[in-house]
Order: sequence, then C-alpha cells, then structure tokens
Amino acid sequence: MAEQTTQDGTASVMYPMMLDLAGRRVLVVGAGEVARRRIEGLIDAGAVVTAVAPSAVDAMRDLAAAGRITWHARPFDVDDVSGAVIVLTATGDPAVDGAVASASRAADILVNAADDDANSDFHLPAVARRGLITIAVGTAGAAPALSARLRDRIGAWLGPEWERFATLLGEARVLARERFGDPAERMRALRAAAGDNEALAAIARGERVAASDILDACEPRSGGEGFERDGAFVSLVGAGPGAPDLLTLRAYDRLRMADVVLYDDLVDRRVLGAVPPEAELVYAGKRGWRSGPGRPGPEALVRFAREGNGRRVVRLKGGDPGVFGRSAEEITALEDAGVPYEIVPGVTAAFAAAASAGIPLTERGVASSVTLATAVSMGAEDPDEPSAAELASLVRAGRTVAVYMGLRTLPRLVAALSLSGVPHTLPVAVVGAASQPGERCSRATLGTIEREVVAAGITSPAILILGLVAR
Ligand code: SAH
Repeated sequence: MAEQTTQDGTASVMYPMMLDLAGRRVLVVGAGEVARRRIEGLIDAGAVVTAVAPSAVDAMRDLAAAGRITWHARPFDVDDVSGAVIVLTATGDPAVDGAVASASRAADILVNAADDDANSDFHLPAVARRGLITIAVGTAGAAPALSARLRDRIGAWLGPEWERFATLLGEARVLARERFGDPAERMRALRAAAGDNEALAAIARGERVAASDILDACEPRSGGEGFERDGAFVSLVGAGPGAPDLLTLRAYDRLRMADVVLYDDLVDRRVLGAVPPEAELVYAGKRGWRSGPGRPGPEALVRFAREGNGRRVVRLKGGDPGVFGRSAEEITALEDAGVPYEIVPGVTAAFAAAASAGIPLTERGVASSVTLATAVSMGAEDPDEPSAAELASLVRAGRTVAVYMGLRTLPRLVAALSLSGVPHTLPVAVVGAASQPGERCSRATLGTIEREVVAAGITSPAILILGLVAR
C-alpha cells in the first residue's frame, strides 16, 4: 500500500474529478501572470469570475474592460469568498495567499493557493484538450514540471482523430438509449464502439463516419460468430507473463467485452485493469481449479456462461492457456456441456524469460529445437513428466529445454541431470518474474545454478533455460 500522506502531512492520493463550472461563481485573488492564466481556463469553462487585486497586468484589465470578468481593484477582504464555489489565490505574497486560504476554509469553500501545498485543498493538473476529451495529469502537487511533461507526451500520442471520435461516441450514446432496452446490452455495445479501431482509423483517413455506423458495427448480432455472438460463450485467454503490454490485442478485446472474468494467482493484477467495472471478476483460486475444496471447478465455467440469457465468460490464464495451463479439463467440461468456446493464445513464460535474458531459444548451428518441460516432481515417477534421462538426452544433443515450475525441485533436477551424464558446464539461464516489476535474470551452469539462484534472490515463478543458447 502506498503511503497516503506526504512529509508535510498533505495527502498523496488525490481524488480526481472534472468540474462543470458553467455559470458558477469563482473567486480569483491576484491579477498577475499566474492569476491571468488560471482566469483564462476558468472563462473557457464558463465560470463567472470575480478577481480581487489592487493592480492587474494589462491582459487582465482588458478582460475586465470587455466585461468577461469582474475586477475589484482593492486588497482582499474575507467577505470576498462568500458565494464562490471555489477560490484560487495567486498573489505572490504568501501572507495574503494564506489569509485567502483561511477565509475560504472557514467558509467551507475549497481553495487553491499557487505553489503552496499546505494552503491548497486541490491542485490544478496539467491539461491537454481534444474537443470533449480532457487529459489532466497531476502529481499531488509534488512535481508540476513532470505533470506537464507527461501531459505533453500523452497529448502527442492523442491524434486529432480522437476529438471527432469522442463527439461521435457521444452521439452514439444518445442513439443507444433508444436502441437498447437492456442496459447491459447497451453498455456492451458502447464499450465495443469505444474500442472500434476501424472507425478511428477511418476518421484519421478523413472519411465520413456517422455515429449510427459505429453503433451498427458494434451491435451484438444473433448471426455473429465466436465472441461476437449472442448467448453463452467462453474464451480461454492467455494473459501473458505479466506486463500488460504483452497482452495480445485479441485478449484485450475479450477482456473489454466480457460479462465475467475468472482469474487466478498466476495472472498479473495489472492485466485486470482492462476489465470493465461492470464485469464480474471471479477469483478462481491460487493455482487454478485444482487447489482446495470450495473452489469452483472447471464446470463452473459452464455455470457462469449459462447464467441469464447466456454470458460471455473469459477464463484468464497466465502465459498461454495451452502450456501447463490445465486447459484440457476445461475444454472437456465445455464440450460435454455443449458450450461454445475459443482459445486466445498468449506469450508463454519461456518466451518472455528468453527475451528478458536476451537469448534466442533456437539458434542456427547451436540448437535446432526447444522443449517446454515441467519438473515439479522430478525424480518421482510421474507419467506427465519427461524423465531426467529424456531431458538429459535432449540437452546433450544440443537442444534447448525450458523448464516450468522447476525452482522448488531444482536440487533434484540438477542431481538427476548430472547422474544422466550432463556435464556441470552446461549453460543455464534462470529468469524470475519475467516481465513483472520484480524481474530477475541470471546466468550460470548446471554446476553453479543452485548457488546462483540463492545469490540472485530468485523466487517463483521462474523459468530455467538449459542449453548452449544460454552460454
Ligand atoms: N500457462 C503458463 C504456465 C503455467 S505453469 C505459461 O504459458 O506461461 C506456472 C509456471 O510458469 C511457473 O511455475 C513458472 O515456471 C512459469 N511462469 C509463469 N509466469 C512466469 C513469469 N512471469 N516469469 C517466469 N516464470 C513464469
């Protein structure tokens, strides 16, 4: 949990909102350059501005002369705050700003004092606008220059087509109220419309796009296929190794459209940020279905999908659903019940680990194949696992072996491979928490890997990559 207050006791978590100030009275104390900039923003937002200051910069005098603000050319008086919904002070004199803040707070009016956190109830974010879209960036008052930099970056990314897109989506929302009686269906259509990249691209190309076209394209159709169709549908989706930008676009799309999302501990929490707030989020257990009584079993997918008129269910899996993901049980349950489903692939942990370690999994003249193997019960007889002798013959033949779930049993794996004649000089790379904030990569050999894992502080989840590619 992040700390909730800064050193000077002010909050570090701000509550953001967008204010509609049209016709509302705002008091600005001060009439210098800083005050002038704030007043222009307030006028843009339709606020009725009263400025109090003994003297003013020319631009402010012009605004007053043009009747766009009321300017009282005198010092601040505590009574000035009455009737204002918010107060901004930027006099350049800390004593005056402090007095304005006290008077405002005594009257229960929120106040901002320029460059003075202790006397501010709110901060003014760095702002970029595209029509209806307002991007506001704040750093709890701590680093306004950084807010401005981030605003510029985001603003540069946000091309002019978004302005038109926002306007069209606003119209689509009005149309959707007539078209969809069912609020859930309306939400789903509007979510799909907001994600309509084709419409966005068409706008960017300068083509004529109407709100009704966007809505038509996004309307759930009974003749639709896969996730687009009506009724119960289950998507087994690979969530990738952690970093949200390693999600595929299709996985992202399925998350945005889901009615129910089931996840487990292997799914990075940041990925869940893509799930719309209306969707039901269900925790499916520590390591998937098998752990513990009381947890939903694979048949729960069927139950979730069949609720109501049939729902879109996303079963999120770390990495790829088909790699040590226990998908077979779920597929069987879905097929037995006749519930349609699809599989959306993901970046499996071995691929993310190899990328983080900077090694290829195959290499011309070095390794011509790669095996994804597990070694949870290495040494014990387990028909699901390759034997140590099998893995040993692969690595001795110069193949690459990526080992999943192998950290806990690493001593047994090392011993078994050595016993099967693998030299202790075999290169081994190990990557913990690939693509996650705590990511750690290390290189060693079969002889040193156990010590190296401890020295590098690598913990589960981790992937071992055995073979010359890790040299
Ligand atoms: N379906 C998943 C694997 C599930 S098995 C996939 O395709 O990646 C769980 C094992 O995957 C863990 O024990 C670990 O070996 C590996 N793993 C999952 N996420 C990982 C990550 N971010 N970094 C390293 N290893 C990971």
